[in-house]
Amino acid sequence: MKSINGKKIAAYLNEELKDKLKSFRIKENITPTLVVVLVGENPASNIYVKNKKIKADEVGINSVVKKLDSGVTEKQLLEIIDNYNKDNNVDGILVQLPLPSHINTEKIIDAISYEKDVDGFNSKNIGLLAQGRPYVVPCTPLGCLKLLKTEIELMGASALVIGRSNIVGRPMSYLLTNHHATVTLAHSKTQNLKQLCKRNDIIIAASGIPKMIKKDWVKDKAIIIDVGINQIVDEDNKKVLVGDVDYSNVFSKVKAITPVPGGVGPMTIHCLLENTLKLSMLRRNL
Ligand code: NAD
Repeated sequence: MKSINGKKIAAYLNEELKDKLKSFRIKENITPTLVVVLVGENPASNIYVKNKKIKADEVGINSVVKKLDSGVTEKQLLEIIDNYNKDNNVDGILVQLPLPSHINTEKIIDAISYEKDVDGFNSKNIGLLAQGRPYVVPCTPLGCLKLLKTEIELMGASALVIGRSNIVGRPMSYLLTNHHATVTLAHSKTQNLKQLCKRNDIIIAASGIPKMIKKDWVKDKAIIIDVGINQIVDEDNKKVLVGDVDYSNVFSKVKAITPVPGGVGPMTIHCLLENTLKLSMLRRNL
């Protein structure tokens, strides 16, 4: 039993990235630029964007937060994205989700040039990942993969991904398949999830259901990556963040598990910054 310290691993990887960015600056005279488009005043989105900007500044990525009023039209947003697509100084474009309901999210994500789609969410990048020839990999699944690789050989391992969202579950299943794991993808209509959990060496939990996975659901010495970030009120009436796995309940049975917070979250931000540098280099054939 072991806690996988995502915060520490991400801090180490961020230091490495900082050095790579420094060399890139010295050799090519380029500081990659990440644009984060934030629409409206969603409090959680505000915090996520702030954290991304702080980390980008720390490693030496130029970050720009483009704040837009919640009343911005789809047409205006498409024009803004088009301008960033054409701007040679912009390497990565991220549109913070969720968007207001009058805007078609898929249309906006697909309007980002695949070469600047730093989240890896648009249909071309998801298609390339599904075909096993990724250009850029979505940040949360990539962060999970990096954590898994510190614990287990993926080739031939059995992995259960719980959740089929376009930003976590589905791309995670493609990524694990590309790394030769045998993958099962579970979702809200899946029958006998507990039995499936018990059969797999690896569980990636991304359902958004607090503490759903208990000790009697997991195989002995399983590796668990808990993507869930759920706010609940604890016994002392305090608001706390918990994952989709009942961490203290399963801890003694598993080989390794990520905590929430301090597991996948910091790795997601690291991968966003790594992707920004990667896109900057790829676009210039470097
Ligand atoms: P989502 O709501 O879009 O998708 C949830 C998925 O879980 C759906 O595909 C649904 O079919 C499945 N699901 C729901 N109930 C289920 C059940 N009982 N059994 C099996 N599957 C079930 O959520 P998302 O955007 O994929 O995020 C999932 C969780 O991960 C959330 O808690 C979110 O906050 C968190 N998250 C964390 C990070 C991070 O960096 N740590 C990044 C993204 C999302």
